[in-house]
Amino acid sequence: MRFIFACLLASMSFAALAQQAGDTTVPLPKPRPAELSAEPAVKLPRHRPAATPDKPAPKPPAADPIGPPLPPGEHVAEPAEPTARIYQTACPAVLLGKVEAKALPPIEEKQCGTQSPLSVTGVLANGRMVPVAGGVETDCGIASALPDWIESIDSYLMARDNTRIAEVVVGTSYMCRNVNNGSTGNLSFHAFADALDVVGFKLEDGRFVTVDGGWRDALSPEGRLLRFAHDSACAHFTTVLGPEANAEHHDHLHVDLGCHGKTCTARLCE
Ligand SMILES: [Zn+2]
Repeated sequence: MRFIFACLLASMSFAALAQQAGDTTVPLPKPRPAELSAEPAVKLPRHRPAATPDKPAPKPPAADPIGPPLPPGEHVAEPAEPTARIYQTACPAVLLGKVEAKALPPIEEKQCGTQSPLSVTGVLANGRMVPVAGGVETDCGIASALPDWIESIDSYLMARDNTRIAEVVVGTSYMCRNVNNGSTGNLSFHAFADALDVVGFKLEDGRFVTVDGGWRDALSPEGRLLRFAHDSACAHFTTVLGPEANAEHHDHLHVDLGCHGKTCTARLCE
């Protein structure tokens, strides 16, 4: 009897406990205040304030904008003009190894000059670097057109004369002057480093074929080579002037990349 009573008492107290547990909620962790949870655990560097300030710079006082008069003999130094930054363009033909050249500082000379001149010392032709002599200062356009032209002459020599170009000899490249050295008239393309005067080719067999000496006899190997060089140049440059153009060009082949015609697609080949 005592045992039954004890069991009843125990079951009643368990039910009371269960009732109590059903009424109360389990305490949850307190949510963090919003401003605290938004803050990152690691401190980040602060951003610089925007370049455009919200608040305009305080204006100088309107009264007395000139300021007090300076004592006699003193003067205010004028603020120095900011120097413009010069950006030069890299030449793809040089980057690709088709032209051996060094970048020169920009040329500014009266109305002449160019932003990104190059000192060209060699061009790639038939797998080797052919030296270019004469202190050639030219632009990327001319430098880029040279390798294919020189290669075509080199191939002609290999096929016909069993020799190759040892050196390309250039006379004038950059020069601040007018067309045909005139005292008046238009500036030459030489004035923009966009023209070359080739005076001849040194060959591996020892010959030095010059326009001055070799052009006259059209049927000689030298005459043929120079005519081939002239005609081939017309495929690579927009202007080609040789001894038959005028007396000014009796001793060189002038090549440039000037614009001819409305759309710059015409060529001058004389
Ligand atoms: Zn010229």
